[in-house]
Formats: sequence, structure tokens, C-alpha cells
Amino acid sequence: MYNALLEAERLEMDCVQVFTKNQRQWAAPPLKKDDIALWHEHRQSTGIQHVVSHDSYLINLASPKRDVREKSIKLYIDEIERCEVLDIPHLVMHPGAHLGIGEEKGLDRIVKAFDRIHQKLPDYRTLTCLEITAGQGTTLGYTLEHLQFIIENVDEPDRMAVCIDTAHALAAGYDLTGAAGARGFLKQIDATIGRDRVKVLHVNDSKVERGKRVDRHEHIGHGYVDREAFAVLCRAFKSIPKILETPKAEAPDGRPWDTVNIETLQELMKTKR
Ligand code: ZN
Ligand code: MN
Ligand code: MN
Repeated sequence: MYNALLEAERLEMDCVQVFTKNQRQWAAPPLKKDDIALWHEHRQSTGIQHVVSHDSYLINLASPKRDVREKSIKLYIDEIERCEVLDIPHLVMHPGAHLGIGEEKGLDRIVKAFDRIHQKLPDYRTLTCLEITAGQGTTLGYTLEHLQFIIENVDEPDRMAVCIDTAHALAAGYDLTGAAGARGFLKQIDATIGRDRVKVLHVNDSKVERGKRVDRHEHIGHGYVDREAFAVLCRAFKSIPKILETPKAEAPDGRPWDTVNIETLQELMKTKR
């Protein structure tokens, strides 16, 4: 795992997002003592303090199938425990998909699942960051109101936060096609979950147009999210970790795409408007 820290350092980043286990497998061997020690050593040596974890793609707390829901709760508990020993304050998660039982029922199941998870792990510090989704299929969490509903209905709302993904928000229908649209989106955030709940920003461009409800990430400035919209959001969320979930290949100029994307964002931030 510490390789992620070294890679981030090499790319001159001051934050990083990791999976604390294989994101496509239900069973995960427990973290070894040596690996935990190495992780903390590399946190120190790299000085990377902003670390975010992303949960497994298999977890679906809204599933109508009891066995899947139970497995998901168990795995999510494991995710939080891993964050706790690795000193990772924020765990980004996808709320879930209702798979046909309806949005209300799905959201209720998510709330009940979090109550069980929190009861099982009292006094854990890691915050769950509900990620806004693109709304593909029966996926929940593609509106700020869905996220607000979950936060307001769990027994321990102080353990909940939000991750805004710019590609997902645009695909879900939010207007990130210009600076004015992005300012409107911020107002919608203020009117629902509140800006302070947002603890992580996923800075991705979208291969698909606004409202298409498909989740396809693109390099910054190469998709349908407007450049000024990125600038408005990055300024509004100045002090929180901003994560690129764009393809990790080599750019045409031979540099890593991450370097190019960061440069693009930094240029955008510089321009006075
Ligand atoms: Zn995600
Ligand atoms: Mn994301
Ligand atoms: Mn995505």
C-alpha cells in the first residue's frame, strides 16, 4: 500500500486516494503488522497527510438481497477498521443501487445499514463520505437530496460527510457547463447538505454530456465539464483533498496524465476572473 504514497510523492501531490484491499473481492486478508508499520513510516517520510480511502465496488448497502446486504455491511465494517489502523480520516463510498425495489426503500436500507455499522464500531473516527453518483441504472445518490436524506436519517450524522465528483454531478444533471452553473450548484449544496459536509472532491471531467447518467471519466478540459466550473469548485473547496480519478496512462507529450491534469487545474486557478 505504501507504494501509493511513493507514487503520489513522485508526482508531487500532497494527497492520495487508496483502496485498503482489493476492490473487486469480497474476502480480504487482514492487514499485516509489518505493512501497517511501513505505511505509517511512509506517511512520515512523504509528509502526505491527506489520505482518502475508497470502498470496494462490491458493497451495496441498498441491495434487496439479504445475503448481499449482510456481506456488504460486514465488508464495510472491515473498510472502516482498516481506515482506523491506517489513520485514514475519510472513506469515500457509493451509497448503493436499489435494483428495482424503488428509491425510497433503497435509501431506507442504506440508513439502517449505517446504523448497524456505527453501532458495531462505536468511537471510530473515520468519516464516511457519501459520493454523489452519476445515476447509472438504479444507482442511488445522484441527487444532493438523496445524500441529505441519508445523513439526516442516520442515528449518528456526525460520522457522515460527502464527496463531490464533478463528472458524476454533471452526468447526474447538475449544471457544470460554466461558472454561473457551478455557482448555482454550490448554492444547491448550501441548501441541502451544507458546504462544510463536503470533505473530498473528485476532480474528473466527463466523457458524457450533462444529464446522460453514465459514469465515464475524462481528462481535465477534454470533456463536458467546463474549465471555469472546475475553477469555481476548486476555489470553493480550497482546503480539502482533490483527487483525480482520470486514466493513469501517458499523455501525448510523454508526461504522466496526472501531471498534465494537475497543471491544467493549476493554470485554471491562477486566471483571475
Ligand atoms: Zn467512487
Ligand atoms: Mn469518484
Ligand atoms: Mn465514476
